[in-house]
Amino acid sequence: MSSALAIDGGDPVRRELLPYGRQTIEIDDVDAVTEALQSAFLTTGPRVREFEEAFAAVVGAEHAVAVNSGTAALHAIMATLDIGPGDEVIVPAITFAATSNAVLYQRGTPVFCDVDSRTLLVGAADIEPHITPRTRAVIAVDYAGQPCAYDDLHALCQSRGITVLSDACHALGALEGTRSVGTLAEMSAFSLHPVKSMTTGEGGVISTNDAKLAARMRRFRNHGLDSDHRERSRRDSWMYEMVELGFNYRLTDVACALGISQLKRVGEWVSRRNAIAKDYDRAFAAMPGVTPLDLRPGVRHAYHLYVVRFDPAAFKVDRAQLFKALRAEGIGVNVHYIPVYLHPYYRDTLGFKAGRCPKAEGAYEQILSLPMFPTMQDHDVRDVVAAIRKVTDAYRVGAQAGRSS
Ligand SMILES: *Cc1c(COP(=O)(O)O)cnc(C)c1O
Repeated sequence: MSSALAIDGGDPVRRELLPYGRQTIEIDDVDAVTEALQSAFLTTGPRVREFEEAFAAVVGAEHAVAVNSGTAALHAIMATLDIGPGDEVIVPAITFAATSNAVLYQRGTPVFCDVDSRTLLVGAADIEPHITPRTRAVIAVDYAGQPCAYDDLHALCQSRGITVLSDACHALGALEGTRSVGTLAEMSAFSLHPVKSMTTGEGGVISTNDAKLAARMRRFRNHGLDSDHRERSRRDSWMYEMVELGFNYRLTDVACALGISQLKRVGEWVSRRNAIAKDYDRAFAAMPGVTPLDLRPGVRHAYHLYVVRFDPAAFKVDRAQLFKALRAEGIGVNVHYIPVYLHPYYRDTLGFKAGRCPKAEGAYEQILSLPMFPTMQDHDVRDVVAAIRKVTDAYRVGAQAGRSS
């Protein structure tokens, strides 16, 4: 076998691209969806509440509200807090754009803060300099599936009347000690997109221990109507009133049937993700210049993503070249995320400037997400490690340039 890089015309480690994430769908899931399709309700039926109750039980929260995306979950949270013009919401620079977009949907002001270079999590010290009299809330992002230090965030925010919220879209199945993500903030948003811990195709959930907030979010997802169709028919009344400007963010019964079925195995899947992470950790411990993100003590990671940092001093090429070379080897690496305020919309339309969050911008230049999903086999993991060894050996400072033996 030639050791020439695939990007230089050598044989790739894999012929078919190994994706960075992939859903797990088993026959039980198919049966559950089929049954829902043949039932009386395709939407606003009994499976919605059944899914919400099962989800709440899994995360240990009092209430769960199902919506049709993680983005809708974040929007519902912002609307329920009555975020509006003049209100500032602090969000980390490294996240999916939906986190701060949700603030914009309400005409609020997203205020980007920096993150820890080694975990990419937002900490109290990153938030504090951005607090003003207009700060209403913080949306902590459990990046990659690792919970933020919520106790520190509450200690900073509570006395100032700032609400701590969680974008837990990466983190279903994660724990802080024995406490579950989904119970660590006033409201927590989850995504059920196919690359996340479990899926309903598209979908989202908000968890909270506050019954009033849950009721408000149920109204918001249903046009702002004061009661849903089933309650109306129970009361035998035609009367319903729109009391606020809501949206149609409902999750269908078909999707909820899939969700109920998926929830039964999400714990197993998170365990498999942790086992894969252990194998990666072991391999990279012996590879200079390739460093996984740090783990906070006492947490159970959900490993939506497995992210490594490449030390720019150790390699002759930048992250963009490492990305291309690994893709050429058949490894579906990815980058999560470009600091949100560097997107053209945030720069050109909203006026954000590069340089705002130096730690986030520095980390962004060094990170790659590696394939990570529960049905990855041990030989898939070995392929990823082999490809990274091959590419980093070829590009290492001091390696012989441009030749293969
Ligand atoms: C996936 C994701 C979202 C949005 O979820 P959708 O279900 O795709 O709308 C929001 N925030 C983060 C951090 C995410 O990873």
